[in-house]
Amino acid sequence: PASSLDELVALCKRRGFIFQGSEIYGGLQGTYDYGPLGVELKNNLKQAWWRRNVYERDDMEGLDASVLTHRLVLYYSGHEATFADPMVDNRITKKRCRLDHLLKEQPEEVLGRLYRAMEVEEGNLHALVQAMMQAPERAGGAMTAAGVLDPATAEPGDWTPPRYFNMMFKTYVGPVEDEASLAYLRPETAQGIFVNFKNVLDSTSRKLPFGIAQIGKAFRNEITPRNFIFRVREFEQMEIEYFVRPGEDEYWHRYWVEERLRWWQEMGLSRENLVPYEQPPEELAHYAKATVDILYRFPHGLEELEGIANRTDFDLGSHTKDQEELGITARVLKNEHSTARLAYRDPDTGKWFVPYVIEPSAGVDRGVLALLSEAFTREELPNGEERIVLKLKPQLAPIKVAVIPLVKNRPEITEYAKRLKARLQALGLGRILYEDTGNIGKAYRRHDEVGTPFAITVDYDTIGQSKDGTTRLRDTVTVRDRDTMEQIRLHVEELEGFLREKLRW
Ligand code: ATP
Repeated sequence: PASSLDELVALCKRRGFIFQGSEIYGGLQGTYDYGPLGVELKNNLKQAWWRRNVYERDDMEGLDASVLTHRLVLYYSGHEATFADPMVDNRITKKRCRLDHLLKEQPEEVLGRLYRAMEVEEGNLHALVQAMMQAPERAGGAMTAAGVLDPATAEPGDWTPPRYFNMMFKTYVGPVEDEASLAYLRPETAQGIFVNFKNVLDSTSRKLPFGIAQIGKAFRNEITPRNFIFRVREFEQMEIEYFVRPGEDEYWHRYWVEERLRWWQEMGLSRENLVPYEQPPEELAHYAKATVDILYRFPHGLEELEGIANRTDFDLGSHTKDQEELGITARVLKNEHSTARLAYRDPDTGKWFVPYVIEPSAGVDRGVLALLSEAFTREELPNGEERIVLKLKPQLAPIKVAVIPLVKNRPEITEYAKRLKARLQALGLGRILYEDTGNIGKAYRRHDEVGTPFAITVDYDTIGQSKDGTTRLRDTVTVRDRDTMEQIRLHVEELEGFLREKLRW
């Protein structure tokens, strides 16, 4: 695996996986652009998720809701009031920091002074942040007195009282910019699923339990985007809302934690780098009955890759009409605008109730970062040289096969290779690349670095011009394996079976 984010960032830029957003104008912080290989890897990951969760199940439907979201959706979901992170400013450097991130980076003795000043049990960072937000004036003074360091200068700062900063991006729909035209870029894909619950139910006649799956962009104005694509302002989520009967929610919550852990392993992440973390009661969001985060050992630390929450009837209960009749258990805002009954009529008893929901919510970009990190390998070769190999699962590799002509100046060889590329491409296994940049050694090295599992070389033997004067190797090619670097010779008619076998899920 990668030992630092820096070596991944460098590889991503060098080989065309990921670039800084708006780079030529100095970069737009918290945005990244996926390059020729990055887009393939990301698409492959999303497709694998969709296949597993929609196509291979009989209890799931897909959805693609819009990014632009009515203000009332995010009012009733609670985001307008509470989708905020605590933030402080350093009066000296004017540097703005997310409070919990800032505290995590402090030396132990500084943090110890702050715990004592705020009278919070030492070691419970979550409780410390909560106490500080309840007494912001006192907290600002305590931070300054405790000598909390500014990460930019490593000097003690003069800190303002912390305050909440709402992370939603606002925009205006239509030509007039006023309160009435205010809308949001969605901060999560989930709300699009909840507000379409009745549409999906009515159009598919699903019975509980069933789920709705969605992949799409989400936007958060993070106070401090950082760690490459780990924390960005524009990202993608893969989210499932799985609707169940109250009472069956705990079973399904456990089920989804196991299922999601299994799936990440099938994507190539090793079990020892995946850590399920059950949120203690004091960390839980107010609507959640239980949350298990799947943490991954990223190069920058053990951090959240996916969260799996039991959200009870909070979401549908928040957005439904007829709230009083439905016996909602969660604490919800009184809804005076919704036109839909987001509930389920028990086919046996005829009684209406609001389903509970289990939400496995994964970040695509964090997934890509985890895959890259896990796959990154430095190997010493027998001749003492070093090679970098990206040991991605072949199914996820951006390029499945590189078809390489041994020489570039023999039209019989290059034309043969081009025809072979087209033929393999038609199998629908993903991207097949005709590769004639550089010499063969360079091509191998480049494809090792980007994780191409197979390199097929078309040579003199292929076109029936073997050194021994025979044509017995006509229509055979060499196939080089990325990981073992071993080469075998196959007849071109064998390639389809070989590749289908190797690239099968
Ligand atoms: P964090 O605590 O790291 O800010 P979160 O708990 O707010 O994350 P959720 O609201 O649970 O995150 O979002 C679900 C998933 O979306 C996360 O597990 C993560 O993979 C992804 N995600 C959330 N915020 C970001 C971000 N700023 N950049 C990239 N991915 C993100």
